[in-house]
Amino acid sequence: MKIPKTTSRYCPKCKTHAEQKISLVSSGHKRGSLRRGGKARVRMRGGWRGHGNLGKYSKKPVGQYKKKTKTTKKTNLLYTCKKCNKSSVQRVGIRTGKLVFEEKEK
Ligand SMILES: [Zn+2]
Repeated sequence: MKIPKTTSRYCPKCKTHAEQKISLVSSGHKRGSLRRGGKARVRMRGGWRGHGNLGKYSKKPVGQYKKKTKTTKKTNLLYTCKKCNKSSVQRVGIRTGKLVFEEKEK
């Protein structure tokens, strides 16, 4: 999906329409990944390596993996006002595959 780099949109701070820059909010880190039994924690402690049967952490045989059903992800767009430099997040995300930012046509 193609999205313009800038757009004119209502700014809650300025209380008028203003030119705003659009960027994508990064998903950041996963919450609770270092909890007991978490994959990241196991790897940090040196687990999940080596030969033989790793029990719970062994690779599952072919066919036992859950098939991925969704091919797209919801986007979170961040609008940054050029006047006051405040940013606001778009409320409802759109499901898209790849997001491409393009220059606005005149
Ligand atoms: Zn503003």
